[in-house]
Amino acid sequence: MFSSKKKQISPSGIMVQDAVREFFVQLGEDPDRNGLKETPKRFEVAIKYLLGGYDRSLEKENKLFENLSSYNGIISLRNIDFFSLCEHHLLPFFGYVHIAYIPSPKHVLGISKLSRAVDIYARRLQDQETLGTQIAEALMKVGHARGAAVYIEGKHFCNIARGVEKKMSIMTTCVYKGEFEKSEEYRKQFMNIISSREIPS
Ligand code: ZN
Repeated sequence: MFSSKKKQISPSGIMVQDAVREFFVQLGEDPDRNGLKETPKRFEVAIKYLLGGYDRSLEKENKLFENLSSYNGIISLRNIDFFSLCEHHLLPFFGYVHIAYIPSPKHVLGISKLSRAVDIYARRLQDQETLGTQIAEALMKVGHARGAAVYIEGKHFCNIARGVEKKMSIMTTCVYKGEFEKSEEYRKQFMNIISSREIPS
């Protein structure tokens, strides 16, 4: 959607910077005043970064390693911070993703790929439920996992700074695939991993 060569935000030909300038005009602001005149350019750079996941895929960035010890337990990575934009309000939501997967007898994922999976899907227009589902499905498909679990804690600006204005509210979602869906024992182990963690400051 946002390749570095294309400046268009949509197929209709609206340029990002023009759209931001027009937004200022509609607000009754002077888009040429000192504080604002460079803002459309800065916004374009910032929004392309925040939505940079469209140009990436886990298939391309993934590297599988041989499962040398035939490890068949849960592998988890906790407290992976993420930053995303809610597709309903274009406002930020952010927090932590906790991932667990059970590897195939042949392969394990490189640990950094778990964080990459989070960034690739978080840096798109998202809702939290879909973000967790997409990460879990990518681990199953690209990582050939036997099971995947993704727990997300998110603070949503649309809930904190507008609407009901609940500043301390945290939304949690949990997605299970494969063996985690089938086995209560695996789900229990995952919940123990999540609840025994240190809360990041
Ligand atoms: Zn929202």
